[in-house]
Amino acid sequence: MLRFSAWILFASLALSQDLKPLFINRSGSALVYDLKASKTIAFWNQPRANTLPLRPGSVLKPFTLAAFIEAGLYKASLKAPEALAYSNNEFFDQLIARMEAADLERGYARFGLNYRAPTLTLNDLLNATKRLITRHREERLRPIFAGMEEAVSYGTARLAAIPATTVAGKTGTTSTSAVFIGYAPAAQPRYLLVLHLDSGSGGGDAAPYAAKIFSSLFATQPETFDPSKVSLRLFWQNPPTSLNLKPGNYPEGTLIDTGLTKLKSPGTLKVEFKDNRYLLTTQVPLEDYVSAVLHGEASGFKANASRQAMAIAARTYAAHFRRRHSEEGFDFCDTTHCQDARFTLNERKDLRDAVESTTSELLWFEGKTAATYYHADSGGWLESAGDAPYLKRRKDPWWQDQPDAHWTWSTSIAQLASTLNLSVIKPTFGVTSREPSGRARSLDVFGHPAEAAAFRLLVGRTIGWEKLPSRLFEVSLKQKAITFTGVGRGHGIGLPQTSAERMAAKAKTHVEILAEYYPGTRIGINASGLHWTSLKTPRITLFTTNPSRDNQVLAQAEKDLVALEALTGFNANPVIRIYPSREAFRDATGILDRVHGATRGRNVKLPPNSKPHTIRHELLHALLESNATASHPQWLREGLVQALLKEKSADADRASALIARQGLKQVLQSWHSSNSPF
Ligand SMILES: [Zn+2]
Ligand SMILES: [Zn+2]
Repeated sequence: MLRFSAWILFASLALSQDLKPLFINRSGSALVYDLKASKTIAFWNQPRANTLPLRPGSVLKPFTLAAFIEAGLYKASLKAPEALAYSNNEFFDQLIARMEAADLERGYARFGLNYRAPTLTLNDLLNATKRLITRHREERLRPIFAGMEEAVSYGTARLAAIPATTVAGKTGTTSTSAVFIGYAPAAQPRYLLVLHLDSGSGGGDAAPYAAKIFSSLFATQPETFDPSKVSLRLFWQNPPTSLNLKPGNYPEGTLIDTGLTKLKSPGTLKVEFKDNRYLLTTQVPLEDYVSAVLHGEASGFKANASRQAMAIAARTYAAHFRRRHSEEGFDFCDTTHCQDARFTLNERKDLRDAVESTTSELLWFEGKTAATYYHADSGGWLESAGDAPYLKRRKDPWWQDQPDAHWTWSTSIAQLASTLNLSVIKPTFGVTSREPSGRARSLDVFGHPAEAAAFRLLVGRTIGWEKLPSRLFEVSLKQKAITFTGVGRGHGIGLPQTSAERMAAKAKTHVEILAEYYPGTRIGINASGLHWTSLKTPRITLFTTNPSRDNQVLAQAEKDLVALEALTGFNANPVIRIYPSREAFRDATGILDRVHGATRGRNVKLPPNSKPHTIRHELLHALLESNATASHPQWLREGLVQALLKEKSADADRASALIARQGLKQVLQSWHSSNSPF
């Protein structure tokens, strides 16, 4: 019955976008904003939402906390998330008392709010919430988002919770209004909701309506697919039995300590506890996942071209085989079953560069992502897979008979039978049929008929993957000893890594390598085959899909960089990448707002048609980041750029004060020295 009514609601939503049928005998207004589509997608009493002044009450607390954080006063020991969850008035009065009036005013103004105005419209509240949520990934604002999540999980907004996804929000109650602001999914905000009722309470009345609206949104969209993120099960093969974390949700960067392994969570982290084991699932930006796969699968590569080819193959594999573990609730495991993903505290620059220089590029075949299987060594013969025309059985033209390619494994009938838990019907073992490539197809295992692939899998899982590296083997039986003598490593499908290295050593490019092993496919950022063109000046490399438009950008960037180098005394060789669309930029960086680029080390990423000031800002980040040795605090990284470019912000004020005290020269010297004094 419930399901049926939810479906009816969806039908009316889809037709009119009007939420009115939900609010029988109520007066108020509501707005639902879709961050992905960048527009309001549903409403109730829109004219009222735009014009009627209302008292917001406690829904402003997240903005108060933001002002406090931006003023540089926040310490983790304050337990702000809990105070926000319970809407603790005393706590927030203390925050306000500790701030200068100017801090509060400036803090509120950042979100388009006037601290002194007693009322605002629901639309003002939507705009402020939008500005707040677009900063969802900023680590220092994390206490705010954690608090809004906790408000729904156990605090004043808990009636806004729904089964389909995690909601985050804040309620407010005044003598004339019941208000709710919130968003979902909490981990990757897609929908914002602001809602007010003329009577009732925020927690008791507004929050349940929020739940109804979110339910209708998520009932129709069970898969909130974010192409920029991959969900990954860590320790899939061997989940830890002890862990430093309790079950729950944690932000990116949380330390994971199993007693045997320590790492920082590469993305938001979910910890569950089942059958005495901890299950860890993390949501990782796609490009970080690709880098981790290169650390697991291609760390021995010597050439840049083969690393780049692997980066595109690994990224395309992720796109093609996404949701491979969907029944277990994630996309990929972290083992060679999917791709061996290794997250490390010491990321290798050559591997990250291969990822960066091919960012967003996938291999396409007839409008779909290709099934980019790869393996270590073909043993001379490539294997086919299904009827994919780019995965045909044929001789590997680049394979060379090197000693490394050969392997042997000796064991005894008794030992093998007992480890594999098989009865010995006859003391025999042999290959009974082969593929045209020479790979064993079927075997006689002690009188049992067996598929060679299944046998190899069984040996791999129970004894070790290194024992039977491929199915290109001969078996000899002498007395009771069995010896496997073979060549090649892996299944032989798609790109062979040793051959790719050999091509790179002969100065072939990654494009040629991919064309050799996935013939007929093409590289592109999307199915229409947009691809990166690189433009160069003495200092800068710029990747674009629209060289004629972005030539101008490059010329200006070079001039800006020269000036910034003169200002700082630093040098850098930035790599700028201009995405073909705002969506492509968002998918690559996770940044939702309209004003920012993204810089990591010397790599600058920009949406198309960025303002000159944005480009200068990101170039200065690249210049500073290329010359930073220690890990400086976030406020300084941002504040120094803003102060030098005369932008206004709390960080800029702090950085300016530092410059006034020490002098720019000293600040930059400390920036460059290996132990951060900041
Ligand atoms: Zn897997
Ligand atoms: Zn910045």
